[in-house]
Amino acid sequence: MRIRVVGAGTMGRGIAQWAVTAGHTVELSDARPEAVADAVTFVGTMLERAVAKGRLGRAEADRARSALSALESPLEARTGAAPDLVVEAVVEDPEVKAELFTGLERVLPAGTVFATNTSSLSVTALGARLADPGRLAGLHFFNPVPLMRLVEVVPGAATRESVVELLTELVASSGHRAVTVADTPGFLVNHAGRGLVTEAFALLEESVAGHAALDRIARDVLGLRMGPFTLMDLTGLDVTSSVMETVWTGFRHADRLRPSYLTANRVAAGLHGRKTGRGFYAYGDGEAGAEVPEPRIEGGDPARPVRASGEELAALAGAGQGTDAGDDALVLVPTWGTSVAAAVAAGGLPADRTLGVDPLSLDSPRRVLAVTPAVRDTAVGDAVAVLARDGHAVTVVRDTAGSVAQRLLASVVNVAAGIAERGIAAPQDIDVAVTLGLGYPHGPLAWADRVGVARIVDLLRNLQAETGDPRYRPSPWLVQRAHLGLPATTPAAPLPE
Ligand code: NAD
Repeated sequence: MRIRVVGAGTMGRGIAQWAVTAGHTVELSDARPEAVADAVTFVGTMLERAVAKGRLGRAEADRARSALSALESPLEARTGAAPDLVVEAVVEDPEVKAELFTGLERVLPAGTVFATNTSSLSVTALGARLADPGRLAGLHFFNPVPLMRLVEVVPGAATRESVVELLTELVASSGHRAVTVADTPGFLVNHAGRGLVTEAFALLEESVAGHAALDRIARDVLGLRMGPFTLMDLTGLDVTSSVMETVWTGFRHADRLRPSYLTANRVAAGLHGRKTGRGFYAYGDGEAGAEVPEPRIEGGDPARPVRASGEELAALAGAGQGTDAGDDALVLVPTWGTSVAAAVAAGGLPADRTLGVDPLSLDSPRRVLAVTPAVRDTAVGDAVAVLARDGHAVTVVRDTAGSVAQRLLASVVNVAAGIAERGIAAPQDIDVAVTLGLGYPHGPLAWADRVGVARIVDLLRNLQAETGDPRYRPSPWLVQRAHLGLPATTPAAPLPE
């Protein structure tokens, strides 16, 4: 296929590299000729690097390099050798993009398909500026394009089916995975990603724990490659914050997508993360970044008697089962969308020595202990020592309905279920997009199935009941599947045409 890539910045050069490596012919252009020259050199260097690493053969690299050419102007007509497809990756400005496409529409034949790599603009609105809106679709790549194997294909309201098919086929035959996504704010990956970061901010707002502790729990208990605050430092809080706002306002202030008041001042102060040297963590010479040392709680008594409710918890603590603690034993209670405080009140437990343990953390290398304001200091140190006895790390957090990992997971699953419920993407595509695009260990719907859909619904209901916050209202997608005993990945029922 002959592809014209317009915009030779970060994304354009990545798309060009990906396309020539897959055997296509690419003509690259930009408003700034020096950007094109730079990009051509960059792609050449990347191809050489792939050869050096044994990922690409010499002949293939030479062929790929010779399939890439520089175009003087994005609007060149090239009579007789017009491109089959134009992929636009210019600055994220609707006017600039619309002007480019209307210009291209004047010089290129009607059969040339147009694709935009926009991350946040409406594909439909952009198409509406064209004489033929049916020829345009979104083709949303991720950075770095050759490594991020996911591409969202986004039809606008008027996009022709044949255009969607052509783009899907192009992506699939060039080694990446295509998912079809409705033209909605954040498309799929940027929408699904709100689950983790909005809940992480909610936990920070409520002073449940500091950002480093929250990151450690997300990493070790949920198995995420990096915690939400480390991730935001990498992406840039300016970018994350703008995506949070776009998705939230785009979905008419849906409770489940609500951003935090904490971002505005941090962005204004330039605490964007790695790129400004300071975000949640400090970067640069002599700074630890996200690898800040973990606080150690020492001096507790690992042999303190413990009573625990729940078999699993009792087994791990080597404890007596039951919460009938007439003695000085610590009382450990598992919480599931509920709080330790509520368990104390409901069970008449001794408030000064009752602590919570997140059952999700029991199978992980890090156990999470929740403390209430009624707990005596010695009880915290002793409980940490007991939980750390077999070499586990322990993080202490303040008591909240649902512990940290539960709340993060519940939010990730509920946001993904909202995407499925609205028909924005098919359940399997949601899971593929999140694992490839966000690097989570499981797709959110498959994750719900691992934990149990009914348990996830219970968790959300408990959170909603104890906090009164509508952000935890379980998605009807999950509730329905829990009622029916079906996996969360079950597609919607087909309706007659
Ligand atoms: P960038 O700033 O690196 O590159 C943009 C390029 O477009 C520049 O070289 C600029 O000279 C050129 N340009 C500006 N106006 C032009 C015009 N009228 N005609 C031709 N060229 C023009 O930006 P980027 O990060 O590559 O982003 C490009 C697009 O991709 C944006 O729409 C962005 O939202 C989207 N996107 C970015 C990422 C990312 O992680 N950077 C990921 C997915 C999508």
